[in-house]
Amino acid sequence: MDEQSSPSLRNAQPSFDLAPEQQEILDAADRFARNELFPLSERMDNEEWWPEDIFLKIGEAGLFGITVSPDYGGSGSDLFTSGLVLQAFSRWNHALALSWVAHENLCLNNIYRNGNEFIRRKYLPGLCDGTRIGALGLTEPGAGSDALGSMRTTARRDGDHYILNGSKIYITNGPVADVLLVYAKTNPQLGPKGISAFIVEKDYPGFRVAQKLVKMGFRGSQTAELVFEDCRVPAENMVGVENRGVSVVMSGLDLERAMIAPICLGICERALELSIDYAKTRKQFGRPIAEFQMVQSKIADMYVWTETVRTFTYRVLAQANDLEVGGGGRGHIHALTAASVMYAAETMGRVLSEAVQIHGGSGYIWESEINRLYRSSKLLEIGAGTTEVRKMIISGELLK
Ligand SMILES: Cc1cc2nc3c(=O)[nH]c(=O)nc-3n(C[C@H](O)[C@H](O)[C@H](O)COP(=O)(O)OP(=O)(O)OC[C@H]3O[C@@H](n4cnc5c(N)ncnc54)[C@H](O)[C@@H]3O)c2cc1C
Repeated sequence: MDEQSSPSLRNAQPSFDLAPEQQEILDAADRFARNELFPLSERMDNEEWWPEDIFLKIGEAGLFGITVSPDYGGSGSDLFTSGLVLQAFSRWNHALALSWVAHENLCLNNIYRNGNEFIRRKYLPGLCDGTRIGALGLTEPGAGSDALGSMRTTARRDGDHYILNGSKIYITNGPVADVLLVYAKTNPQLGPKGISAFIVEKDYPGFRVAQKLVKMGFRGSQTAELVFEDCRVPAENMVGVENRGVSVVMSGLDLERAMIAPICLGICERALELSIDYAKTRKQFGRPIAEFQMVQSKIADMYVWTETVRTFTYRVLAQANDLEVGGGGRGHIHALTAASVMYAAETMGRVLSEAVQIHGGSGYIWESEINRLYRSSKLLEIGAGTTEVRKMIISGELLK
């Protein structure tokens, strides 16, 4: 390389760091989460308690509707920015971060991307200001990894309504949601090609929360089984086109996978921070355990793992940022989003395992913060498609 070309080549290098304005958003969300969300996290974990007014506070802080145009009450930013908010929330209260992403991405952003003007005006302002809580219902008792093929919930047209029958399970925010984006088969003969998306409000006749489910981790986020028994939903609440729900699902799932990785990143960062603090203060053999090389080795590994999760997470979020409506569910972005969440979730498991090891017996005690994080780790290898499904997606795209 000659000397003349080097400056311009240097300028052409992509930046792998956050831009100053992105760092500001991450820092502002971090401050909010540390002050407002962290104090709630212990009780949420102990009692599976849901803090009633927290969504209003998040709404007042302008931390909902990040991707949504200000015309509907959002802040007109992008998916990458919402990933930064999620990363910050996950450092301080990962259970609430999960509730936030179910509301913000699975429900709100999906409605924004796929809903018509009537639906946007009807639902987005309340979801953006936090007065209404959102959820997404895809999984069923008999339809998990094969969510589309095995779906049994049906929607039958009856005048200006659809009549929904069936059930959904493991639905995040289910027990507290006001607005649910629900998938049902409008033409069961067509299999996955006969699925449509609907908005169901919690007060619609025939809808009920069958049971709240008790979890091993992410305990403060509320999870439920939902039942639809001749549930009457106005036909105008269909999101997208009849029988074209698959594109809504698949595009939404790619974005969801890109958005789950920041949860792993935030948890990794917090676990590393807690482990460094503990290693510096805990003394054995007359010295802080941080002075032992085997503890140093773990901290170095955890740092490397966290940084690689950061790099991959940001890169894939940036690529998913401009996914066109109806895009995704196939091609490079489909494999890449599956890869980022798979890597982030598995790597987070390793980080947390070493973090508990550094904490010794105290890490095994339920009340400790590191234990709370450790109990959370498995979910992210299961929700939004299991590790096995992610591998099927990646290899399927590569072997086409
Ligand atoms: C806490 C929590 C929150 C959730 N939130 C939501 C939500 O808000 N909305 C929603 O719709 N869903 C939600 N889910 C559901 C989640 O997406 C499903 O649990 C997940 O997709 C797996 O489905 P399943 O549990 O039925 O497992 P199954 O599909 O029954 O899988 C069981 C095992 O078999 C493996 N397996 C299945 N098929 C294959 C195959 N072809 N090849 C190899 N292995 C295979 C799986 O990988 C897994 O290891 C949530 C789940 C949990 C636990």
